Amino acid sequence: MATFRYKTFGYAAQSVGARLTPFSFERRALRPNDVAMEILYCGVCHSDLHWARNDWGWSAYPVVPGHEIIGRVIEVGSEVTRFKADDHVAVGCMVDSCQHCDQCRKGEEQLCREGNTLTYGSPDRITQEMTQGGYSKHVVVRQEFVLRVPEGLDLARAAPLLCAGITTYSPLRTWGVGPGSRVGVIGLGGLGHMAVKLASGLGAHVTVMSRTPDKEADALALGADRLLVSTDPDAMAQAANSFDLIIDTVPTKHDINPYMPLLDVDGTLVIVGQLGNLSEPSTVPLMLGRRRVAGSPIGGIAQTQELLDFCARQNILPECETIRMDQINEAFERMERADVRYRFVIDMASLTA
Ligand code: NAP
Ligand code: ZN
Repeated sequence: MATFRYKTFGYAAQSVGARLTPFSFERRALRPNDVAMEILYCGVCHSDLHWARNDWGWSAYPVVPGHEIIGRVIEVGSEVTRFKADDHVAVGCMVDSCQHCDQCRKGEEQLCREGNTLTYGSPDRITQEMTQGGYSKHVVVRQEFVLRVPEGLDLARAAPLLCAGITTYSPLRTWGVGPGSRVGVIGLGGLGHMAVKLASGLGAHVTVMSRTPDKEADALALGADRLLVSTDPDAMAQAANSFDLIIDTVPTKHDINPYMPLLDVDGTLVIVGQLGNLSEPSTVPLMLGRRRVAGSPIGGIAQTQELLDFCARQNILPECETIRMDQINEAFERMERADVRYRFVIDMASLTA
């Protein structure tokens, strides 16, 4: 087993809002239960942009973002039983948790009572050194947080499943979506387009709610049954009481009041986008229709593996625009303008020392 640390390199933001620039750093020496991998692809999530810009107020710098990781195993620790060199593997938003609380034991590590360790921007549970993410050449992760990429899943397109995929799959499963369910998706971006593909793959009737009609043809091609223009009050009024579940992926502070009457009795609007304040929500549609507002963070490791296997079986793949590592700043700017159809994925072969 190696006792040396892995010298690696990637792209980091050195301070709030700084452009990402090349950055050399080290990964920890392998612990007995660790898997070291070469990163092949990494998706670009809106959370990476929030983090680089400190939108949530708790970013630490330098930060190497990236939590939609597809890689190839290069070395494993002495106690690793699940993986071996050359296996194709994946890592999502978490790399550790306490592993003994009730939530971890249920496979809901994202809800760990002690807080999970994020792929970047969290102190390592043993050394306290800050974790760094997938916009880099190598990563070292304990085997319990490494996913197996099923045979047949296109490596170049699978990365967004690790965050955009599981974050939308998890509420679909929590709220029992299946054939006949009526699902709305607010915002057709990275998360939104996966919500459409997955809800449709589960047999639901899916409606995209977008600010303009521009993405209508795309929405239908992705598997939606229709697109509702959320800025058109007449169309919104006609859709009253017509959804069991609405998944809200909007990344900024917004008003959920126009969407609440669209839920049927006992329906739920689940927020997976904005982390922080909303514009003042009214309780009127909540009380009158016994409707609910909920939130949902990513999903557990077992459910992430279930998702990867489901996507391999159903041939569900994200729509990706492959970019070079040095195009990341432009990609961030485009993502901010909602100019991405529908996920940027960095080809790490483009990252050279
Ligand atoms: P994205 O690709 O930028 O997509 C967001 C979509 O929301 C846009 O395509 C746009 O769709 C719509 N939108 C953007 N700005 C808007 C505005 N001001 N008002 C209304 N709609 C707007 O982002 P993403 O990667 O899907 O991430 C979405 C959010 O989810 C981010 O805040 C991210 O941090 C969060 N997230 C949460 C979790 C979790 O665990 N819960 C995990 C991953 C990401 P239209 O053009 O169709 O309107
Ligand atoms: Zn993400």
